[in-house]
Amino acid sequence: MHKQSLVDTNVAPTGKLSGPGQYDVAIIGAGPYGLSAAAHLKAKGLDTRVFGQPMEFWANKMPEGMLLRSPRVASNLSDPDRAFTLDAYETAASKESCTPLPLDTFVEYGRWFRHQLGSGLDERCVLRVDHDRPGFRVTLQDGEQVRFRTVIVAAGIGPFKKKPNVFQEFSESHVSHCYDGRDVRRFAGKKVVVIGGGQSALESAALLHEAKAEVEVIARQSRLNWIGQHSWLHHLGPISSMLYSSHDVGPAGISRLVAYPKLTALVPLKLRDKIRKRAVRPAGARWLPERLKNVKLTTGRYACQALLRGDEIELRLDDGSQRRVHHVLLGTGYQVDISRYEFLPRELTQEIQRFDGYPKLASGFRCSIPGMHFIGATAARSYGPLLNFVAGTEFASREITRYFSRA
Ligand SMILES: Cc1cc2nc3c(=O)[nH]c(=O)nc-3n(C[C@H](O)[C@H](O)[C@H](O)COP(=O)(O)OP(=O)(O)OC[C@H]3O[C@@H](n4cnc5c(N)ncnc54)[C@H](O)[C@@H]3O)c2cc1C
Repeated sequence: MHKQSLVDTNVAPTGKLSGPGQYDVAIIGAGPYGLSAAAHLKAKGLDTRVFGQPMEFWANKMPEGMLLRSPRVASNLSDPDRAFTLDAYETAASKESCTPLPLDTFVEYGRWFRHQLGSGLDERCVLRVDHDRPGFRVTLQDGEQVRFRTVIVAAGIGPFKKKPNVFQEFSESHVSHCYDGRDVRRFAGKKVVVIGGGQSALESAALLHEAKAEVEVIARQSRLNWIGQHSWLHHLGPISSMLYSSHDVGPAGISRLVAYPKLTALVPLKLRDKIRKRAVRPAGARWLPERLKNVKLTTGRYACQALLRGDEIELRLDDGSQRRVHHVLLGTGYQVDISRYEFLPRELTQEIQRFDGYPKLASGFRCSIPGMHFIGATAARSYGPLLNFVAGTEFASREITRYFSRA
């Protein structure tokens, strides 16, 4: 295939960096976004390297036994010909398709997708990215340094976990996050409080209950929300298509806007923030209430104090009631803050214009440092909540490729 030159309108068109070991594009992170972007850029003939273990976050951090909340159609990674779909994987692997999609199937699908991409995948972790004008110097876990003209950060939400103040001093053995580890079976026979009312918290509570832990969910909101509460709205034929996109991110109407991230990007920031928060508000999948019917669900409450008592944790709630448990599992979400990416040195993040922890992005997902781009959840403040989900990989990959290909 003819190799196109990499054009970044913000960088003087000096061509590729000279010297050995240099490439056009480094993608940091081999999750759904990194792998999809790689598929598109490689197809355009760009010299692209993707760093990280494929699907590492999903394989090692998500709770074992988890089911994907997103519909199948919104769980495809993206490639230019739409050849490497979930359906194609299941056919190739002689696997029966199922809904909802089990975590293990999704991880295997991602790894299969990665194999379809051929070369250019490097499982090493990126330790550091330095701005080495006009490009970047990327230092890998074994100390090797490679220069790139462009860096795409597709490193996910791993470092952004929120830990409420009352739990700050606790070690992971007493207080952990829903995506700190996979195996809930270690809590069999233990008393566990799960904090939060979103999908991570509620699904973890179901898995803990099924693993024979004694579980209670404590959520701040006065009542729990369930996705698909107005399921009749999905069965109105063409009217439903006007209300919901197939990505199924957000409620009726908003779902349609969210499906067009370029349009969402034009909405004033305050309103865009409102739309984003509404679209990703805490809610459990429709298949969870049945699994939680024997789990104690306490709503409208929060923990205002936590003390270590021997090997247990004593919680005091805002109504004065107390709990004594072996473990607290936090399903308290995450807060994007790119300064928490350890591979981005302080002097580099300081160069990046941000709103709160999010990078301010212009077309092609580029930040204020020429040649640096952010995709996935870090782009959600600019492009809207679709970028929080796998469904956003199609838009992100096509948009970034279009930008790179512009002559
Ligand atoms: C419990 C839970 C359930 C979810 N369920 C769904 C769902 O059903 N559907 C959906 O669409 N979304 C879901 N999400 C959101 C999901 O996180 C994103 O959709 C998806 O992971 C985004 O892909 P990504 O590539 O941006 O991030 P990730 O999948 O997190 O991939 C980023 C990768 O970068 C790697 N990385 C980080 N730093 C480095 C480094 N320095 N060097 C090399 N590699 C690095 C990480 O190891 C990771 O593998 C869920 C999230 C959580 C927490």
